[in-house]
Amino acid sequence: AVLAQARAVEPEINSYVTLDEEGALAQAEAVQEKIDRGELKGPLAGVPAAVKDNISIEGQLTTCSSRILSNYRPTFTAEAVKNLQREGAVVVGKTNMDEFAMGSTTETSCFGPTKNPHNLLYVPGGSSGGSCAAVAAQECWYALGSDTGGSIRQPSSFCGVVGLKPTYGTVSRYGLIAYGSSLDQIGPVAKDVADCAAILEAVASRDEKDSTSVERQDYDFTSALERDIKGMKIGIPRDYMGEGLDSEVADAIWRAARVLEERGAVLEEFDLSLVKYAIPAYYVIASAEASSNLERFDGVKYGYRGADCEGLHSMYKKTRSEGFGAEVKRRIMLGSFVLSSGYYDAYYLKALRTKALIKQAFDKAFETYDLILGPTAPTTAPKLGKSLQDPLKMYLGDIYTISVNLAGLPGMSVPVGKDSRGLPIGMQLIGNSFQEKKLIRAAYAYE
Ligand code: GLN
Repeated sequence: AVLAQARAVEPEINSYVTLDEEGALAQAEAVQEKIDRGELKGPLAGVPAAVKDNISIEGQLTTCSSRILSNYRPTFTAEAVKNLQREGAVVVGKTNMDEFAMGSTTETSCFGPTKNPHNLLYVPGGSSGGSCAAVAAQECWYALGSDTGGSIRQPSSFCGVVGLKPTYGTVSRYGLIAYGSSLDQIGPVAKDVADCAAILEAVASRDEKDSTSVERQDYDFTSALERDIKGMKIGIPRDYMGEGLDSEVADAIWRAARVLEERGAVLEEFDLSLVKYAIPAYYVIASAEASSNLERFDGVKYGYRGADCEGLHSMYKKTRSEGFGAEVKRRIMLGSFVLSSGYYDAYYLKALRTKALIKQAFDKAFETYDLILGPTAPTTAPKLGKSLQDPLKMYLGDIYTISVNLAGLPGMSVPVGKDSRGLPIGMQLIGNSFQEKKLIRAAYAYE
């Protein structure tokens, strides 16, 4: 059914870079045999999934939606995907994204944009726009995305699905092609909160192959699926609900807050003013890390190589000039600049200090509150073709999601209605480190 649906809507929506029909059917048969033998019993056995195209699967095209990796097939599978496969997941394809996960609209893909299933004139958000559109359009049952500054939560909000970015270190980054390594996390995109919890339970693991992955006390995220939130203290940052926030989004968030209050939560507004420095700090840190991570794409080891080159430098230059798109080049230049001698202290070090202060501000908030609630994004989805004309404005749209990555915290986007054009609105719940269960509990109570 999922393959038939994908065949029907893909010409319009373009969620997938690769749709692997034959492979999916073969996986499904193998899983069915295991189910019949009683070897697979979990909730994910046989359920069709999609995987963002920056997450490696052995032998499968893994392009990061970039020309430079357009023919790249990894020789190994990401740990998060292996964890899913162990539970009997059937991976039907690899989803479209902003090139190297840099963007907020899925328009910087070299394979063309993905469209929002709720209205084809609008973007699905990004960078995991393909994953979120595929779930919303029933082209898979759930998907994996990656989130460096909001790339799971923001497109989930624009597409009306549930997306969760786990605490940094919860899901192994082994096999995830790095963008900003200190911020990147893989996480689930699903139709509802219960699915999201089950997928997180399957993908989360301590992995020796990722030195930043951590051993957690427990992994039974589905045990948090109870609707009791009596007495839960939820803080709403005034800074998230004021200037720059679309009034229809604001109304929907306040309505959702009242629902949580009716169900027993205690709501309170508070100040989190430092978050206004999150955008400049993030774009300095993420670009710095990206410029270093993307050095490896030089035409020698992976993917695309420029033709007719005269010598090594000419090959580097041609390969990278032709292989990377405009947004990726912008980030590489910005990142190289802020790391260069003479500017390092003024920009990069300052951004790291800002990051530490933002973390402290969240630590302080979590002395009082169990969770923080606000919008996922300041507006609903913009029209296709509007955002890339003004990158700085596009960066400002990341205002509510980015600080969560800087502080390493878990965050979740949950659908809370639609605007007058019928485009979905998402609320964001933010938890303290390793408190995903509180997020899941509150989101489930709301749903
Ligand atoms: N929009 C942000 C960026 O362009 C976040 C992307 C992400 O989380 N991968 O960097």
